[in-house]
Amino acid sequence: MVEVVCVRLEEASVDSQAQAESLSALMGGQSVKAVDGETFLVYVSDSRDAVEEVTDRLNYAGITAFVEETVRSLYDDGECPDCGEDIPEHYTSGDSCVNCEHVFTGRVHENGV
Ligand SMILES: [Zn+2]
Repeated sequence: MVEVVCVRLEEASVDSQAQAESLSALMGGQSVKAVDGETFLVYVSDSRDAVEEVTDRLNYAGITAFVEETVRSLYDDGECPDCGEDIPEHYTSGDSCVNCEHVFTGRVHENGV
């Protein structure tokens, strides 16, 4: 099962696609998708230790970032339980529904570098 973790870099990149490619190389070839200049999604095959693994690699490379598990897969059909709005892929615990402000919850990590 493919899980996703969200990486938020502290320094925004001018070229988010190039940044995604360098992050992918850093992660050992994991698929990385740029959401914007500072938010990236890293696809991992097993989420169990994924957050720690990604954080370790970023720390090793000296990159300051926050790494969190995404919450979309925790909700039925990836939808808000109150209004049915689709939950964006990169949302993590504490993000709220754009439609009804329902606050999504998931595992929280203290992974800031
Ligand atoms: Zn909602």
